[in-house]
Amino acid sequence: MSCIFCRIVAGELPAARVHEDADVLAFRDIHPQAPVHVLVVTKVHLASLHELEDLPLAGALLLGAAEVARKERLEQGWRLIANARTHGGQEVDHLHLHVLGGRPLGRMLAPAKSLPPPKSHTP
Ligand code: 5GP
Ligand code: ZN
Repeated sequence: MSCIFCRIVAGELPAARVHEDADVLAFRDIHPQAPVHVLVVTKVHLASLHELEDLPLAGALLLGAAEVARKERLEQGWRLIANARTHGGQEVDHLHLHVLGGRPLGRMLAPAKSLPPPKSHTP
C-alpha cells in the first residue's frame, strides 16, 4: 500500500490522531498552516472529492470536520478546505478535508490578479 493516508489509517505510519469514527479519521497536518490544522480523511481510499458519490460517507466526512472543530474549541470560527486534483492544489491523492482555525484566517483566496493567468476553461 503506497498511499500515505491509507497507511496512517492502517496504523502503519504515525499521526497525531484527534478524532475517529467508523468512516473517518482525523489527525494533525504535519505542516500546519494555522494553530489548528487537522486533516479529516475517509478510511476507504478515494482519490479526491471529485470521486465522492457515497452520500452517507459525505455526511460522515462533514460531521467529522464539525466534531474536530468542537473538540479543538474553535468557537471563534474555522475554515474547511477540500483541495481536489491539479488545479485545486491537491498533493495527497486520498480524499481529505482540512480543518483550520485558532487565528483569524483572512480572505478565502488570494486575489486572482496575484495568480498566474488562467488557461481557458470550458465546463
Ligand atoms: P492537499 O494539498 O493534498 O490538500 O494537502 C495534503 C496535506 O497533507 C498537506 O497539508 C501536508 O502537509 C499533509 N501531509 C502530507 N504528508 C503527511 C503526513 O505524512 N502526515 C501528516 N500528518 N500530514 C501530511
Ligand atoms: Zn489512500
